[in-house]
Amino acid sequence: MEKVKINSEKCKGCLLCVSVCPGNCIKVSDRINKLGHKFVVFSENEKCKSCGFCFLMCPDTAIEVYK
Ligand code: SF4
Ligand code: SF4
Repeated sequence: MEKVKINSEKCKGCLLCVSVCPGNCIKVSDRINKLGHKFVVFSENEKCKSCGFCFLMCPDTAIEVYK
């Protein structure tokens, strides 16, 4: 199971989650959501420590973190 789920339709591409992730687990997608934002995607399940920093930083509650 993926440790992090990102709701691409809620993401506005601010990159705050990318900036705080110690494992560099979140990447910018090359796709655009319905709001016109280039959203981010979770990509590194092995490196993710479920620290929750990305969840805490996201102003749009687009991220869920699982242990
Ligand atoms: S839970 Fe922590 S390690 Fe995992 S993606 Fe979020 S910030 Fe990165
Ligand atoms: S912090 Fe939230 S809104 Fe900003 S890029 Fe990450 S998932 Fe998207």
